[in-house]
Amino acid sequence: MPELALQQPPALTALTDDENLFRDNVRQFAEEKVRPLAREMDEKGVFDKELIEQFFQLGLMGIEIPEQYGGAGGKFFEAILAVEELSRADASAGVVVDVQNTLVNNALLRWGSPEQKKRYLPRMAAATVGSYALSEAGSGSDAFALQTRAELKGSDYVLNGRKLWITNAKEAGVFILFATVDPSAGYKGITAFIVEKEFPGFTVGKKEDKLGIRASSTCELVLEDCRVPRENVLGDAGKGYKIAIETLNEGRIGIGAQMLGVARGAWEYAVKYAQERKQFGQTISHFQGIQFQIAQMATEIEAVRLLVYNAARMKDAGVPFVKEAAMAKLFASQVAERVSSLAIEIYGGYGFTKDYPVEKYWRDSKIGKIYEGTSNMQLSTIAKLVLGGK
Ligand SMILES: Cc1cc2nc3c(=O)[nH]c(=O)nc-3n(C[C@H](O)[C@H](O)[C@H](O)COP(=O)(O)OP(=O)(O)OC[C@H]3O[C@@H](n4cnc5c(N)ncnc54)[C@H](O)[C@@H]3O)c2cc1C
Repeated sequence: MPELALQQPPALTALTDDENLFRDNVRQFAEEKVRPLAREMDEKGVFDKELIEQFFQLGLMGIEIPEQYGGAGGKFFEAILAVEELSRADASAGVVVDVQNTLVNNALLRWGSPEQKKRYLPRMAAATVGSYALSEAGSGSDAFALQTRAELKGSDYVLNGRKLWITNAKEAGVFILFATVDPSAGYKGITAFIVEKEFPGFTVGKKEDKLGIRASSTCELVLEDCRVPRENVLGDAGKGYKIAIETLNEGRIGIGAQMLGVARGAWEYAVKYAQERKQFGQTISHFQGIQFQIAQMATEIEAVRLLVYNAARMKDAGVPFVKEAAMAKLFASQVAERVSSLAIEIYGGYGFTKDYPVEKYWRDSKIGKIYEGTSNMQLSTIAKLVLGGK
């Protein structure tokens, strides 16, 4: 059946011409502009401001935002390609773009009212960094145990509480923030709000000093009688739990892409080094022990790519993808940690120093098993879906 064969994509990881072009552009940008800054940003623990401006100029902060709002009008799959390519150079760059696209813009696009879209999407596409604020000191995996309170007073909600671990918070102008309008209602009280940095009573607090993704800001948020106009409720009051669950389901594919980029970045350095480093009179890539390690890593990276791309394609196709997204994140973070750790070993003693790039990949890989649902939480989602509650 040659006609049928022609219609089939040549591989599950095959890209369209447009996707190839997009990927190549992001790759070139990541090589020329991101990679040279990665080490210094990691050391200082600060993300380069101009780099964020360049993300906006390239359309990377509004990939799925329709052109009518100034966005790139692309697909979720392109956001995934961008996160992968940026993370190959620097995982912090990857997460800045990831949170903006897969969580913040995504929530606004899906649940924003026409007025909210008109008001916020052009800003998100052009110049405003976004954050997604769900976690608190006492509620991480058990996210719906959150304590931040929202009380309706006149035309405003008044928010009180603290959020912890909020990515992009230092740079952000807009926050999708979850609070409860009725603690006695449990998860059915949870409501999503669009909070602007300038709203009275809102402060960005302490910035964490982290093991990895050090350039990406992670901060506490403090809400003290923070007044949020009633029209800034995203979706319906009491339906925030649905927004949180569904955005995070999609976001997890983004973290899978970030970890895919980290694994690739570390692997590429390991291969190059193995082909240069000489011991016993030959390059270490001649030793079968090293060859097998490189082959195993390449195989695992390919498996991650299949999981991540497939979950992203399913999301774009509008078919259920929750299990696939959880599997992609779970496995990608395991592989990123394993591959970057082996890359250090292939570098020998040099790999253990900050003079060489591989130790950073290993530090950056660790977060993949923690945020947007720990590995245990992914396993719990997968178990529920494969066991069908039995
Ligand atoms: C760098 C960084 C950036 C972050 N960015 C954001 C952000 O932008 N927005 C945001 O809202 N949050 C963010 N987070 C928070 C992150 O999502 C939480 O840290 C994560 O969900 C885990 O919650 P926790 O830290 O409270 O750990 P806990 O929930 O206390 O978990 C501790 C351990 O117990 C295990 N555990 C918990 N419950 C179960 C269970 N039922 N079964 C089995 N094991 C279980 C976990 O797997 C983990 O190993 C970020 C965190 C970090 C570190």
